Amino acid sequence: MTIGNQQLLITIHDVTPALQERVEHLWRLCRARGVVPGLLVVPDWHGGSPIEGDATFGTWVRERAQEGAEIFLHGERHDEIGSPRTWRDERRAFGRTNKEGEFLTLDFDAASAKITRGVARLRAMGLEPIGFVPPAWLAKMDTHVACRKAGLAVSEDDGTVFVHTTKTALASPVVRWSARGAFRSYGSVLQERLRWKLQRSAPVMRLALHPADLDHPAVERSIDRALEAWLGLRVQTFYRAL
Ligand SMILES: [Zn+2]
Repeated sequence: MTIGNQQLLITIHDVTPALQERVEHLWRLCRARGVVPGLLVVPDWHGGSPIEGDATFGTWVRERAQEGAEIFLHGERHDEIGSPRTWRDERRAFGRTNKEGEFLTLDFDAASAKITRGVARLRAMGLEPIGFVPPAWLAKMDTHVACRKAGLAVSEDDGTVFVHTTKTALASPVVRWSARGAFRSYGSVLQERLRWKLQRSAPVMRLALHPADLDHPAVERSIDRALEAWLGLRVQTFYRAL
């Protein structure tokens, strides 16, 4: 049953040859429930896994795109090499990422250069990205402006989806998990339950799955339970429909 005009966006983050097995595992989890998740592709995960270097991976992503999966650029390397943090950046990133806020410190020019390069790499392998999501959702507004100027339809942080084609900003909670240690794992399972209780009627809801979530069985169970619960209330929708 769908109540009114409520959106449910579902994505898999960190799509890279380095994590392909887990990405495919999450994909199967989604497909088992009839979901075609968006795929957030990282062109060169930690500087050691260029997407062009693995033909099997390229074919897999293209096939998923043909099935209807929306493709997003998700950083360039997904780490902070070459981008030193200031204390202000530290404060914004505190507790949120394990030094993977690649866009956290970047101003317009630096963000724009990385986005342009990344989009070109995805296009060169036959993928047409609809949008951009900064690693750990950490970026200054400059990054979102760079996305609009690069012609991308959408970008997002952890509270908002920016639809550049219509120049709108949609408030949108995101359910995400962390399996970094038992404490965070059970914390994120509780957080999922809490969002289910408190934010069930949010107009635009997002579920974000990460390969690292599979490190903890309780988190994997929570993801599956969340998919079942949210899909009982809404049908999956797509960014292209926003
Ligand atoms: Zn990521």
